[in-house]
Amino acid sequence: MTGDVTVISGPSGVGKGTVVAALTAAYPEIWVSISATTRAPRAGERDGVDYFFISEAAFDELIANDGLLEWALVHGSARYGTPRAAVADAVAAGRRVILEIELQGARQIRQHLEGGRYVFIAPPSEEVLLHRLRGRGTETEDQVRRRMETAEVELRAANEFNHVVVNDDLGQAVAELVELLGL
Ligand code: 5GP
Repeated sequence: MTGDVTVISGPSGVGKGTVVAALTAAYPEIWVSISATTRAPRAGERDGVDYFFISEAAFDELIANDGLLEWALVHGSARYGTPRAAVADAVAAGRRVILEIELQGARQIRQHLEGGRYVFIAPPSEEVLLHRLRGRGTETEDQVRRRMETAEVELRAANEFNHVVVNDDLGQAVAELVELLGL
């Protein structure tokens, strides 16, 4: 597959979702893939908007049918994957595609895609990341701890990406992405 695909990665709690939401609000021509996940919805999350919330069996079926472009077990608890057909359609329609996924998925995409853009969103520091994860209030302390462990692995892999955007100031981070995407 070829196409204008930007993979945006970075540790959980770094604000990837907020950055991508601000970017698409300003540039509605961007198409953001909606992932399938076996994790339970958080309060306020909507099926088919934030994620496709599916069962373990349905996820197995997607894998068996080669319906996912990539997938990963994240934080040792839930599986997340990018539906293949929707991305292929968006690319075929000439849309600018964004995949907001974690490290293992980004590595898989790199194996299948020619000419993708790989952007790592980094926190100003690990302390700030921990503070944001706790402040979100959506995870238990045990979940926060596991996310910080994953984050440490992810932060060490930032150099695998073409670009690193530090999310200190939201407006600044979005402006850097606008420039990287040539918008
Ligand atoms: P959360 O549970 O906080 O929504 O997401 C947890 C992590 O899974 C985040 O780092 C997010 O980027 C990642 N993620 C979301 N969708 C996908 C996907 O389709 N594939 C992969 N590999 N990771 C995903």
